[in-house]
Amino acid sequence: MKILVINAGSSSLKYQLIQMETEEVIAKGGCERIGIAGGKLTHKAHGETYVVEQEMPTHTDAISLVLKMLVDKKAGCIASMDEIDAVGHRVVASGEAFKKTTLVDDKVMETMEEIAELAPLHNPAAILGVNACRAVMPGKKMALVFDTSFHATMPDYAYMYAVDYDDYKKYKVRRYGAHGTSHKYVSGEAAKYLKRDLKDLKIVTCHLGNGSSISAVKGGTCIDTSMGFTPLAGVPMGTRSGDIDYAAAEFIFRKRGMDLSEGLTYLNKKCGVLGVSGVSSDFRDLAAAKDAGNDRARLALDMFAYSCKKYIGAYMAALGGLDVIVFTAGIGENTPDVRRDVVSGLEAFGIELDEKKNNFKNDGAIHEIQKASSRVKILVIPTNEELVIARETAALL
Ligand code: AMP
Repeated sequence: MKILVINAGSSSLKYQLIQMETEEVIAKGGCERIGIAGGKLTHKAHGETYVVEQEMPTHTDAISLVLKMLVDKKAGCIASMDEIDAVGHRVVASGEAFKKTTLVDDKVMETMEEIAELAPLHNPAAILGVNACRAVMPGKKMALVFDTSFHATMPDYAYMYAVDYDDYKKYKVRRYGAHGTSHKYVSGEAAKYLKRDLKDLKIVTCHLGNGSSISAVKGGTCIDTSMGFTPLAGVPMGTRSGDIDYAAAEFIFRKRGMDLSEGLTYLNKKCGVLGVSGVSSDFRDLAAAKDAGNDRARLALDMFAYSCKKYIGAYMAALGGLDVIVFTAGIGENTPDVRRDVVSGLEAFGIELDEKKNNFKNDGAIHEIQKASSRVKILVIPTNEELVIARETAALL
């Protein structure tokens, strides 16, 4: 069985074609600058990289080009579109409308339009991606795989905000979380790696990338997560503030003459480690600036690690103990200094990092980085959201 995974952004679209029996990626690539001059597709298959520079005014043009590449005599890897058994689409937010992976039909897409406002930066792009695929591959089975599904198991006292209950009922305002496919994948991989039953494990998963979220996973089920109604909440991120007293935010908006919409753009795009450091949202740049003596870069990195540490502590309490900490995503997989700073000082809780093991160079494998005496395992696990999307799609079929 072959599954095509699509991750559509507003002006970009990433794809992977996965052979499910072996879970091998047969081809993958991405389209950039959809709807903007200078469209470009990068396609990788059988060890080669192919670049096509071509305008893609719409997502339908982009999908058409992807399919053309997949069946191309030289760059392609399938004889015809019929070899694709189904398409799995990544969707950021499901609200309360969808609790699990869902097969696409007209009714489902109507509901998708209704809940688009829950993730205005992401969901409309996913809708464009689905509609484009439906136009180019009519009749093909398609699934929506939601970033929020894994968090749908949170108990009510964890997902509720302490606001007027009627507002929750009427507007469905509550914690939904994000990066669910990643948290699900790495918690499952942790159990496999440790040869333990996932049902017996208490895990804190730290997805630390440009967007970061931390989850508490008990017996394979998510019981809490740091992102909220939107991905703005939780630890400070590349450009997002993370948790902030709402009154402090409103105070800044007023002082700077921003309306609410401008204020939200400010919190999403101009804050986080970029805002604090004034240097960059990229942790590689921050590390270089800190090494060169930039104290605001040092501060941003310290704030990030401290916030992650606090979430680990909170989730240890929520889980009633801890067996495993997992680090994943761009920062989690590649930045030993951040991992060290996040878990330093937690030795009293049985969390002991081995500095030497921690200083490995990312080779795409799972690494175990705790000391022999550490009660809690500390694992670095490369995430694979596309594979989860493909697995969920295949399972639905
Ligand atoms: P992500 O959103 O998961 O792609 O993560 C992006 C973040 O990971 C950026 O802040 C990068 O600085 C950081 N990072 C650190 N080292 C690497 C690396 N070798 N490759 C990719 N991202 C890295």
